[in-house]
Amino acid sequence: MTAPKPKRSTLDLIGNTPLVLLKGPSEAAGCEIWGKCEFANPGASVKDRAALWIVRDAEAKGLLEPGGTIVEGTAGNTGIGIALVANALGYKSVIVMPENQSKEKMDTLRALKAELVLVPPTKFSNPGHFVHTSRRLAEETEGAVWANQFDNIANRKAHIESTAPELWAQLEGRIDGFTCAAGTGGTIAGTGMGLKAFDEKITIALTDPHGAALYNYFAHGELKAEGSSVAEGIGQGRITANLEGAPIDTQFRISDEEGLEWVRRLLSEEGLCLGLSSGINVAGAVALGKQLGPGSRIATILCDTGFRYLSSLYNPAWLEKKGLPVFPWLQS
Ligand code: PMP
Repeated sequence: MTAPKPKRSTLDLIGNTPLVLLKGPSEAAGCEIWGKCEFANPGASVKDRAALWIVRDAEAKGLLEPGGTIVEGTAGNTGIGIALVANALGYKSVIVMPENQSKEKMDTLRALKAELVLVPPTKFSNPGHFVHTSRRLAEETEGAVWANQFDNIANRKAHIESTAPELWAQLEGRIDGFTCAAGTGGTIAGTGMGLKAFDEKITIALTDPHGAALYNYFAHGELKAEGSSVAEGIGQGRITANLEGAPIDTQFRISDEEGLEWVRRLLSEEGLCLGLSSGINVAGAVALGKQLGPGSRIATILCDTGFRYLSSLYNPAWLEKKGLPVFPWLQS
């Protein structure tokens, strides 16, 4: 029997996540679709990796004194990662989040000892936006650093140094394509760069939700958003520092309905309970698989756990309010 090696620190639990073959998506695409189980990180999302790399980078630069504070603006998952890394290393965390994100993420942050600051959701150009609010709070707080996940490339470095080599090892060097959506862009850019360093021929595809501007940017060179999405944590309107130079070969635009259909199928047919960004990623992976053809091997990211969205994605009243289909077994 081989069991995972015992770890000497909680922080060593970050990364090295399992990879699982997704049966329904593989059948739909006519090739292999693999999902990287990022919900298996201690903070239950892909963002634990970025949080750890950002904090270690700040330490290495001498920006964090013992007992110091880490401030971050986030849709929630990065905040959860920062809070648990801060606890493990003896720092405080202050997390700024738009108040339209899931209640579960807010409750989790409070439970993790983070100081939670909620702000109204606004455009990035508004000074009250969660990113600008977090920067100001960091400037005003003594001994604080601003994690700045959008423009701090320690974020994508996490994926260059961990996610990409893990995928390469897990798939034994036989991978034809990788795709995921972008929030900060750290995952797509970092994993893309890391995989290209192993094999330039691996196709890197951006999967963009509706309401984001990157599809049009990579397809037509114009940052232009169309439609909207209820997916949390993804949907970018600008080229962040993490996205600069991202090796994107092709791109897909995926609707909430398509993403939600994969969330429903993966739950009911394969026992995976996921958030909507994972469903959107899987829809993108199926599209990429169809493009690359039979026999190809595609990997994508299962970003976070569906348990984080019980009051939204898995709540019939919420789905109805958003005009989205209710899973049959939840209908009254
Ligand atoms: N899915 C979820 C649920 C997220 O919270 C995030 C992070 N914002 C992403 C996907 C996108 O990851 P990244 O920031 O690396 O682009």
